[in-house]
Amino acid sequence: TAAADDEFDFFYFVQQWPGSFCDTDRGCCFPDTGKPAAEFGIHGLWPNYAKCRPTADDGPEAAASIDMVVDDDGSHHHRRRQKCWPEYCNNSNNLHPWEIKDLIKDLDANWPTLSCKGGGGGSSMEFWAYEWKKHGTCSGLGQHDYFAAALDLKRRDGGLAGILAAAGIVPSEDERYLLSGIRGAIANATGAIPNLECNRDAFGETQLYQVYQCVSRDGRTLVDCLLPMSGKCSGTVKLPPF
Ligand code: 5GP
Ligand code: 5GP
Repeated sequence: TAAADDEFDFFYFVQQWPGSFCDTDRGCCFPDTGKPAAEFGIHGLWPNYAKCRPTADDGPEAAASIDMVVDDDGSHHHRRRQKCWPEYCNNSNNLHPWEIKDLIKDLDANWPTLSCKGGGGGSSMEFWAYEWKKHGTCSGLGQHDYFAAALDLKRRDGGLAGILAAAGIVPSEDERYLLSGIRGAIANATGAIPNLECNRDAFGETQLYQVYQCVSRDGRTLVDCLLPMSGKCSGTVKLPPF
């Protein structure tokens, strides 16, 4: 196993704005359950370290979990491999649909896939199974508890789209919003500072793509995100309609 269950420090609870996933030059596809709601959708619940750790360059386990390479020493351009989160902690632990049977309707509505893999129109179960294998197996939670925890987190505070709308931040074709305003609105409503990540639409315009909320190891307490993140944006961003 790549890492013990108890090794991580906090979770990132990551939600994606479907408008920003779909309007890039790669496009998107809707799942078999149809067009998702114009609400943020869950991407994943990701165990994370508070501090990246140096890791050995060799060995099959290390190779599978290298997530970042940093400059150790600028003058010598010495590079050292870093591991910033655990992943794939148990590759024989496949997601069993029957374990989350009672959650499937809820997951379809709140954790829909927008990927076009397999031609689109597919089941979101593949997305959940992938997230379980990569991140869930490092959470220390069982399959049902892991997905239930993510759904509970998403229900907090009425959802991110509502929080932003209450602050006057509504999806728009041409409006631009201050990133600090988006961060502030979410911090005020949830009591915890999130990280934000952007991507670019087909015209190269920067837009809000994902919101990272930080959650303590219990899987239910929101905490301030203290780790700096290169969110690929600053200043103002768009929030495109979906
Ligand atoms: P990307 O390179 O698109 O930012 O991330 C690719 C994948 O790496 C994500 O979907 C996620 O599985 C993982 N990942 C990226 N950043 C983080 C992070 O900060 N923490 C954790 N735990 N996983 C991450
Ligand atoms: P990550 O490694 O970035 O956590 O997960 C992304 C993987 O999940 C990609 O392989 C992607 O094809 C798949 N995936 C399926 N549905 C979605 C979706 O709606 N959003 C994102 N970001 N990835 C998805």
